[in-house]
Amino acid sequence: MSDDRQVALVTGAARGIGKAIAVRLARDGLDVVLCDLLEAEMAETKRELESLGSETLTFNCDVTDSAKVDAMVKEAEQHYGRLDVLVNNAGITRDKLLMRMSDDDWGKVLAVNLTSVFNCTRSVIRGMVSRRRGRVISISSVIGLMGNVGQANYGASKAGIIGFSRSVAREVASRGVTVNVIAPGYIDTPMTQNLPEKAKEQLFNMIPMKRLGRPEDIANVVAFLVSDDAGYITGQVINVNGGIYM
Ligand code: NDP
Repeated sequence: MSDDRQVALVTGAARGIGKAIAVRLARDGLDVVLCDLLEAEMAETKRELESLGSETLTFNCDVTDSAKVDAMVKEAEQHYGRLDVLVNNAGITRDKLLMRMSDDDWGKVLAVNLTSVFNCTRSVIRGMVSRRRGRVISISSVIGLMGNVGQANYGASKAGIIGFSRSVAREVASRGVTVNVIAPGYIDTPMTQNLPEKAKEQLFNMIPMKRLGRPEDIANVVAFLVSDDAGYITGQVINVNGGIYM
């Protein structure tokens, strides 16, 4: 790795939005570290990134486990000498009406979607602050802003990311580290492909642009936030949703 190549860590990077982000960053000349639980898909993504010139490490790391996250970050920092960018993307849904929601439905979603953001950001922030350079970007959701029936756990976790990020943004702003959030609308990925046809049709009708988003629509905004052009942007929530929430 040459000294001037930046290094990004992307969680949930094996498929969907995380994969599109990893591919875009590799295309833009970054080395990308992949973290996911899906081994086979992650190996495929790694091959794709390497063909784009990225030196890529993969970690089968559960982002809810802070000890494993710390070990992953330590190994990546030792290997590359730095981590410049963290993209907190791993996320899950366990949709149910509140009256039927179990402790496990609540706890799992909060752990994967919100505690993971704490684990990963805490782990990378010391290095970024000491190097006076860094970008932390977390993938929230339109549901964290407007709520949704059956998604009290998901909505709470995604709203939590926003409060967390604005607090950390204030802590590290004077040290050259920016912390921002992207709130996607409905994006065509395995997460939404499982929705019933009727729900998909209703959704479609609610979106002013009359199409689901593409993973690349989110990756484009990540690429901008990583760039020098976005150096004066911090503590912001950027909506990428085809107009479904304005
Ligand atoms: P996908 O389910 O396609 O991808 C998420 C990835 O995260 C999967 O590969 C998943 O692996 C991985 N992951 C889940 N749990 C963990 C964990 N504990 N540790 C490490 N990796 C994990 O989802 P999307 O690409 O659609 O979503 C990406 C992000 O964007 C999520 O945070 C989601 O909430 C958010 N988002 C998505 C929207 C959409 O419409 N698709 C809309 C708004 C926000 P595995 O399958 O093994 O769990």
